[in-house]
Amino acid sequence: MNRPPQAEPDCKYPRVARAGRPGTVVQIGEVALGAGAFCVIAGPCAIESPDQIRRSANDVVAAGADVLRGGAFKPRTSPYSFQGLGLEGVEMMRQAADQAGLPLVTEVPSAARIAEMAPLVDAFQVGARNMHNFELLCALGQTDHPVLLKRSFGATLTEWLLAAEYIAESGNDRIVLCERGIRAWGDELRFTLDLAGAVWAKRRCRLPVVVDPSHATGCPELVPPLCRASCAAGLDGVMVEMHPDPSQARCDGDQALVPPQLELICEQLRQIPPPPDTAGGYDDGTT
Ligand code: PEP
Ligand code: MN
Repeated sequence: MNRPPQAEPDCKYPRVARAGRPGTVVQIGEVALGAGAFCVIAGPCAIESPDQIRRSANDVVAAGADVLRGGAFKPRTSPYSFQGLGLEGVEMMRQAADQAGLPLVTEVPSAARIAEMAPLVDAFQVGARNMHNFELLCALGQTDHPVLLKRSFGATLTEWLLAAEYIAESGNDRIVLCERGIRAWGDELRFTLDLAGAVWAKRRCRLPVVVDPSHATGCPELVPPLCRASCAAGLDGVMVEMHPDPSQARCDGDQALVPPQLELICEQLRQIPPPPDTAGGYDDGTT
C-alpha cells in the first residue's frame, strides 16, 4: 500500500503519525475520545455474575464516569486463575451496560472471537499481552469497531505505535492508545506508569491516548493522583478498575477502587481546567 502523503518520508508509522494533522476523534458509543473532554472508563477487572456487573454499571453511572469496562476473556498469568466467563460474560455486560445507558469496552482474546463479540460490544480492547498479536491487529483493522490498544509492558513506544499502524493499515483508524505500565525493576509497584511515554505518544501520534493507572500501579491509593496527572497533562482519559465489593472480586480485587472513590475521582477531574493544547494539534507552544 502507498504511504499517506502527509507523513514525513522517514516516519515508521505514517498512518497514525500526527504529521501536522488534527487529532483523530474516536467515538465509543456516544462518548467521544480525543475531542477535548477527559473521559473516564471504569468497571471491574472481570465480569463475575449478572448481579455484579449490573451493580458495577450502576456505580459507574452514579460516579459520573463515561464508559463501562470489564473482562470476559481474562489473560491470566497462571492457567489456574479465574479465566473469565467468556461470551456469556460479554452478554451479561451488554445487558448491564444497556440498562445503565453506558457504552462498553471489553478485551477480545483472539481474531477467532471477533465475529461473535462484534454485535455485543461498542469497542474491542487489545490486552497488553496481545499487543504483538499481529494477526489479531490486522483482523481488528478489518472491523469498524473502535479498538483500545494497550501497550505491552515490554514494548518500546515505537513498537506500540507500530502495533496501532497495523490496525490502521488494515483499514481501521478508530484506535485509542492505552498506556498501562511497563516493566522496570523493584516489586513495590505492579508495573511502572510511563506517563512521559503517554504524553510522547500524544504529541507524536494523532490518536487519543488514555492511561490505566490501576494495572500500572496495583495500588488503589495511587490511582486518584495519577488520574489527575493524566488529565492535567492533556491526555484524553483514564481506564480504572472499580468493584462494588473488592474483597469478593475474583480478579485484581487488591487494586480495585470502591464506588465512592471513583465518584471522588470524577469530581476532582471535573475541576481540572483543560490544558492550553486541546484536541487540535496538542500544541502547547513549547515546541
Ligand atoms: C485489563 O485491562 O483487564 C487487563 C488485563 O489489562 P492488561 O492487558 O493491561 O494487563
Ligand atoms: Mn485487571
